[in-house]
Amino acid sequence: MAGKNDIKEILSAVRVGKILYDEPMSRYTSLGVGGKADALVFIENEDDLAQVVRILREKKKDFFTAGNLTNVIVRDSGYRGAILLMTGIKEVSCERQKEHGAFIDAQAGASLAKVVSRSVAEELTGLEFCAGIPGSVGGAVWMNAGAYGREMKDVVRSVTILDAEGIRKVINREAISFSYRKTSFPPGTIVLGARFELEKGERFQIKEKINEILQLRQGKHPLEFPSAGSVFKNLPGLPAGKLIEEMGLKGTTAGGAQISSKHANFIINRGGATAADIMALIELVQAKARKEKNLKLETEVVIIGEN
Ligand SMILES: Cc1cc2nc3c(=O)[nH]c(=O)nc-3n(C[C@H](O)[C@H](O)[C@H](O)COP(=O)(O)OP(=O)(O)OC[C@H]3O[C@@H](n4cnc5c(N)ncnc54)[C@H](O)[C@@H]3O)c2cc1C
Repeated sequence: MAGKNDIKEILSAVRVGKILYDEPMSRYTSLGVGGKADALVFIENEDDLAQVVRILREKKKDFFTAGNLTNVIVRDSGYRGAILLMTGIKEVSCERQKEHGAFIDAQAGASLAKVVSRSVAEELTGLEFCAGIPGSVGGAVWMNAGAYGREMKDVVRSVTILDAEGIRKVINREAISFSYRKTSFPPGTIVLGARFELEKGERFQIKEKINEILQLRQGKHPLEFPSAGSVFKNLPGLPAGKLIEEMGLKGTTAGGAQISSKHANFIINRGGATAADIMALIELVQAKARKEKNLKLETEVVIIGEN
C-alpha cells in the first residue's frame, strides 16, 4: 500500500494530462484481463513523457511503456509502478520524395490502421501487411510486428527514441537489429516515432491487397472474441498453432479463457476470463510441448505484473 501512495506523491510533482491511480488494466488490454496498475499515465506529448520518465527514474519506480496493449497480459495482481500509455501521441505526416515514393512519419501512439489508411490516401505501397494488426506504431516497431512474409524492418527507415538516459535520438534502420518479434533497443528505450519508407503505388492495387489480407485474417482468426493475437512464437519450420493442434489442445478451456478452436495459437476471452485463466492455458501448452515433444515454446505476448 505504501508503494502506491508513494507513486501518487511522486507523480503529483509533474504536471501532465491525466493520471489514474489503481486503474484496472482489464479496461485497456485487448484481452480484457488484467489487475490494477498503481498509476496509468496518459501521455499527450514528448515533454510530458520526458518529465514523467525522469522523475520515475530518479525515484527508482518501475514503469512500462504501452501502446494499444494488444500484445500484453497484465497479471491479475496488477502492475506495481506506472504504465505509460502512449496512444495520445499520434500525429502522422507524409513527406514526398523527388523521385518515386515518400516517407510517412508517425508518432508512437498512432495506430497502424491510421498509418495504413494514410498510405492508401497518399498512394504509397509497402504497409499493406499491417492491415488488421491492431497495435500502435511504437508497439509494432518494438516487437518488429509482421504478417504475411513482411515485418516492420522492411519498411522502417529510422526510429526516434528516448533512450535510457532520457536523450532523444534518431536511429537509422541499419543501426537497429530486427529479428523475429524482437528488436535490439536496450531496455528502458522508449519509441517516440518511426519513419517509414514507401514506394509509389496504384491506389486500387494497394486497396486490393489490404482487402485480401483483411479477408484472410477474418477467415483464420477468431476476431469475434477478445485476444492478444498469436500467443506463442512459431518454431523454425513449425507454426505454434499447428503444434498446439497436434497436441490436441484446440478448444481447451480454463475458466473464461479458451484455446481458440478456429486458430490454436490464439487464446480468447469467451467472457469473464481472468489473467490467471489465460496463464493456465499458456502454462499447459508449454508443459505439454516440453514433455511430449521436447520443445520450448516461447510467448510472443508480453507478460507483466506480479506473479
Ligand atoms: C487480433 C489480433 C491480431 C494480431 N495480429 C498480429 C500480426 O499479424 N502480427 C503481429 O506481429 N502482431 C499481431 N498482433 C499483436 C499486436 O497487435 C502487435 O504485436 C502490435 O504491434 C502491438 O502493438 P501495441 O501498440 O498494442 O503494443 P503493446 O501491446 O502495448 O506493447 C507490446 C510491447 O511493445 C512495447 N511498446 C509499446 N509501445 C512502445 C513504445 N512506444 N516504446 C517502447 N516500447 C513500446 C511494450 O512495452 C510491450 O513490450 C495481433 C493482435 C491481435 C489482438
